[in-house]
Amino acid sequence: MISSKDLQKKVRKVVSERRFEHIIGVKDTAACLAMRYDVDLEKTLVAALLHDYCKDLSDKEMLSEAKRRGIPVSKTEQKNPYLLHGKLAASYGKEKFDITNEDILGAVTWHTTGKPNMSLLEMIIFTADYIEPNRRMIPGLEEIRAMAFLDLEETVYLINLYTIRYLESTVDPASIDDHTYETFEYYKYLHNSKKGA
Ligand code: FE
Ligand code: FE
Repeated sequence: MISSKDLQKKVRKVVSERRFEHIIGVKDTAACLAMRYDVDLEKTLVAALLHDYCKDLSDKEMLSEAKRRGIPVSKTEQKNPYLLHGKLAASYGKEKFDITNEDILGAVTWHTTGKPNMSLLEMIIFTADYIEPNRRMIPGLEEIRAMAFLDLEETVYLINLYTIRYLESTVDPASIDDHTYETFEYYKYLHNSKKGA
């Protein structure tokens, strides 16, 4: 597997400067969370650096690359091809950089929508992507940043809560990926059962 140091050099060459700043923000934030939750640092760095590797592809390129790589495309993804960028990055990582660790590939694949029952590394990348320092202030961000260092499951619940609220108020709710709702339902259940305990 490629080292995080080498991967960083590769990533810098293919993404825009703004995107690279975001990726470094995710890397630094994910590193802090990995220390807090005792997760392998190198795996965390590699996942963070890879997560948006394909985000600068055009919609057309996302769809053709998905087809070429045998990645199934859902109806929501067909309409919003950027939703494929995590799956594509995982596929590139495997092919180009010999990244085979399932936890890293899962964290990259699911970083946009999350999924039920995520591993620590998956929750860390999902969370770091949302709270990294370059994110503009959005409702709930301060609360979520503080929660990230206390309880990751509760953090994932809050991120989904605010994301769904935001998307439902700004875009067509039909364009929200089913996985986002599934993730929300799962972590809402955990949230409610903790409250009842
Ligand atoms: Fe992304
Ligand atoms: Fe990102």
